[in-house]
Amino acid sequence: MKISIIGTGYVGAVTGACLAELGHDIVFVGRDTKKLVLIQSGKSPIYEPGLDALLEKNIPRITTTVDLPDAVRKTSLTFICVGTPSNPDGSIDLDQVRAVSHTIGKSLASADGHHTIIVKSTVLPGTSETLVVPIMERESGKRAFVDFGVASNPEFLKEGTAVADFFHSDRVVIGTNDARSRAVLDALYTPLGAPIYATTIRTSEMIKYTSNAFLATKISFANEIGNLCKAMGIDSYEVFRGVGLDARISPHFFRAGIGFGGSCFPKDVRALIAYARMLGVEPQILDAVMDTNEDQPTKMIDLLKRHMDIAGKTIGILGLAFKPDSDDVRESRAIPLIRALNTERARVIAYDPVAINNFKRLFPDVTYTDSAQDVLGADAVLIVTEWKEFDDLDYHGKLVIDGRRMERARKEAGVYEGVCW
Ligand code: NAD
Repeated sequence: MKISIIGTGYVGAVTGACLAELGHDIVFVGRDTKKLVLIQSGKSPIYEPGLDALLEKNIPRITTTVDLPDAVRKTSLTFICVGTPSNPDGSIDLDQVRAVSHTIGKSLASADGHHTIIVKSTVLPGTSETLVVPIMERESGKRAFVDFGVASNPEFLKEGTAVADFFHSDRVVIGTNDARSRAVLDALYTPLGAPIYATTIRTSEMIKYTSNAFLATKISFANEIGNLCKAMGIDSYEVFRGVGLDARISPHFFRAGIGFGGSCFPKDVRALIAYARMLGVEPQILDAVMDTNEDQPTKMIDLLKRHMDIAGKTIGILGLAFKPDSDDVRESRAIPLIRALNTERARVIAYDPVAINNFKRLFPDVTYTDSAQDVLGADAVLIVTEWKEFDDLDYHGKLVIDGRRMERARKEAGVYEGVCW
């Protein structure tokens, strides 16, 4: 199939590269020509293991453009993979989705043949039917689900393992209201061999929010139990191991630390909270999930203060990305930690294998180093992201506050505090 992908961020770049690998012709549509030049030369615009190799291998099937109408006219399938960030009040900002819907609608007016538009960006239930479809019908003069197809296909990738997640996903969710769109998506995804869960567009949109809200809840729950375990001198990891053996609970994603960050959980839970309030439903659990998450990084500072007066001291930060194997720093737990250290008048020296450039835009005044070893020279070390290479460091004699449970630090550090163990 000839497929256009709008947005060359984490979701768009991975989706396009993986669909090219399945043999489809891909047109990446972006706004930043530098990123498009990279893609065209077989290089990923983001750090994601395996993505460079996939893009390079599939160069003959990949083109790039800033011309969205042209891309729509030259393809029969368009994936919307643009951002859906938070407004200041936590509600979802749909400006990017609205803008591309207008342009796609206009392009459809003069496009030959049938075209299917797939909303892959995370959008609240009802967005495709009450925002995307009306705009496209108005701009094109054509009827959705008859003259052109619209479908929902939420993304469940995990940054750091996104390519493997695409080819070995637990399930593919597709939301359609017409048989033709359903057939297109079935044809696209059947080769993956993953279970396809087919439902309506609204339900598909809600599945994405429910998944993220549940995973965020599992993490905040683990953190609350972890804080309790710490106060009782019990190792929460041993507790979760025992509890996770229950098939109803599962050991996956069940561990304590300093909370979740990234571009999805915080923003999606906040959007669901704001939407629930708009509908007159009080989201008590979701509120608590976010509150627990906001509090969790401060536990590291409290633990550090048990061992030193931190004013004027140099505190080392290991890890700035919101998770290992990613350069994404959106809502990284390093952000509230460094803010708290600045308030306490500590000096900060920080290291991350790939995320320093992205983090520098947020905190230009922090001292960054290109070696994890330099961070160990600080008065105390906070482990914020569980990069594998941090398990190769020599922590002997160091004061370490660990937010992610790195085994070597746990065994070797002179003074060691785990945040929930
Ligand atoms: P991102 O910010 O990395 O990428 C979005 C891209 O869309 C940007 O490159 C932006 O320039 C581009 N864009 C916006 N308007 C455009 C236009 N008019 N024309 C061309 N390009 C345009 O975001 P992301 O992390 O890839 O997420 C995209 C969507 O997928 C969001 O709704 C997000 O919630 C969802 N999602 C993200 C992840 C993840 O792990 N990152 C996982 C699942 C779902």
